[in-house]
Amino acid sequence: MLPSAVADQIAAGEVVERPASVVKELIENSLDAGATAIDVVIEDGGKQTIRVSDDGCGMSRDDALLSIERHATSKIRTATDLVGVRSFGFRGEALAAISSVSQLEMETSPEDGDGTIVRVDGGMVRDVGPTARRRGTTIRVSRLFYNAPARLKFLRGTQSEWRAVLDVVGTMALTRRDVRVTVTRDGKAALNLPSTATLRDRLAAVYGGAFAARLLDVDEVSGTTHVSGLVERPADVGTSTRRVFLSVNGRAIRDNGIVRAAEAAYRSTIPGGVRPTLFLDVVVAADMVDVNVHPAKAEVRFRDRWQVEQTVERGVRRALGTFDASAMFGRPSWVPSPERAVLDASPASPIGVEALQPQPVVDEGLFEPSDEGGAPPVDVVNSRPSPDPERPSLDVPFLVQLHRTYMMFEHDQGVVLIDQHSAHERVLYEQFMNVLGGGAQPAQRLLFPMTLHLGPDEAEAFERHREVFERLGFEIEGFGGHTLLVRAVPMPHPRFDPERCLRETLASLTGDREASAHARHEKLAATVACKAAIKAGDALSPGEMRALFTALRDTTLPAHDVHGRATIVQLPWDEIERRFGRR
Ligand code: ADP
Ligand code: MG
Repeated sequence: MLPSAVADQIAAGEVVERPASVVKELIENSLDAGATAIDVVIEDGGKQTIRVSDDGCGMSRDDALLSIERHATSKIRTATDLVGVRSFGFRGEALAAISSVSQLEMETSPEDGDGTIVRVDGGMVRDVGPTARRRGTTIRVSRLFYNAPARLKFLRGTQSEWRAVLDVVGTMALTRRDVRVTVTRDGKAALNLPSTATLRDRLAAVYGGAFAARLLDVDEVSGTTHVSGLVERPADVGTSTRRVFLSVNGRAIRDNGIVRAAEAAYRSTIPGGVRPTLFLDVVVAADMVDVNVHPAKAEVRFRDRWQVEQTVERGVRRALGTFDASAMFGRPSWVPSPERAVLDASPASPIGVEALQPQPVVDEGLFEPSDEGGAPPVDVVNSRPSPDPERPSLDVPFLVQLHRTYMMFEHDQGVVLIDQHSAHERVLYEQFMNVLGGGAQPAQRLLFPMTLHLGPDEAEAFERHREVFERLGFEIEGFGGHTLLVRAVPMPHPRFDPERCLRETLASLTGDREASAHARHEKLAATVACKAAIKAGDALSPGEMRALFTALRDTTLPAHDVHGRATIVQLPWDEIERRFGRR
């Protein structure tokens, strides 16, 4: 038989790879002990010192000595306890393994006051004695692998060990938002996370408020499965580091099937090759999941995986707004209507330079030839929802413009308002992204080229994005110095002011250094869409409203504009009836 210290060292190979795995085991023990606050101290990336203190239940002297024996666990007694086990630990080998390859010091106390201190060197108990401390446990692991040179050799540099530690702490902090966590690195505070009620608050503390605010809520229940969390807006995907966090019944795990299901929900909302940031909590009945399939407990097995994945996909899909928004349009499925084709086709009649001048209110079609030109303003009071016999658009509701800013229509569930600028912006953004993905954008040659004098920053921004501008339908030449000659422009609508659009877009791109081509495309598409879209205050003819409505309905994310704001607002009948005292 092997001496037990050697057996522990062999076991340590499975449990302890590097400082981060020690940190993980110690934090899990603290959480299992019911800690509400955990302080982590790291020196030299954890290679020199790892110290984890908690305010959990602590241990008696006997339990403290037992805890460093192999297969000493207080968490399960029989094999049947394994089914649906809720604690992180249950194998009883982490402390034994860690103490066999380090110098470990444990101070612990089940009550404020008299506690126990135990010192272990490479698996040998050196010292046991009394100490005074508050309720809880502090474990300090020094000189990890000091007696295992083969393992020591595999440790990476301080910086990369530190990053792995931070990753572990971050994951635990997302799993258990209720626990206060601090991390000190080489004497300096590195992370200070107060206990919070919500995932969004915790994400704000870890990654910053701006990051957290942009994410969309997921909340989906199906049978005994509950999926909740936060996911990235499609328009943001690919613009910054991708992060994925997944927990099942309060345990952080990896699961490709669930991640793929969540990603499937983004189908058609993001281009291929980019992947969304996801933070998802899955809760299933305890007997529907087996957590004991992986030594580091990083994977689980579901009894009905398909059902879980379906719920994830549906929840994420709903969060992205597609189902909600299309439900608001009152139709389960989309039937092509004639207006749609017009958006994608070249304008039927060329538009001359006069279209470049700021124009008074025009009634010619924004999205279609001006067959409805000069339509009088709609009389809100006397108008009835009557489908226009001229046009086969029975599937478009009767639309009214309010405040020259919103389009309003009636729906089974209430009155719906669409912000015309946001809506048009969403339509153009998706059109531009489509063009950048290989489609064609109709361009309009100008009768007289337009000369644009730019500042040095704007000129530089143009050079950086030149190729993308060209693909969007701009034909632009350098003219020496910082002057551009614009020969052709895309024509999203006759009121489009290309000079203003170009100037404002370039101004907002100065100093911008998006790393990936995709991020640059999205930024540019979003900026041009914003500048090119119709504005609040533009009067729309009924035909223009219908065209905008159908174009919006056909976008992948009608309910969100490119900044993630709502495009559509619904006033439910309930609410209206309540206000009139009808219920
Ligand atoms: P496991 O977590 O699988 O039970 P460990 O080796 O990690 O095994 O821990 C052994 C035992 O030591 C635990 O079952 C628990 O009773 C005790 N223990 C470890 N850390 C703590 C702690 N921070 N507070 C209270 N008890 C602890
Ligand atoms: Mg443990």
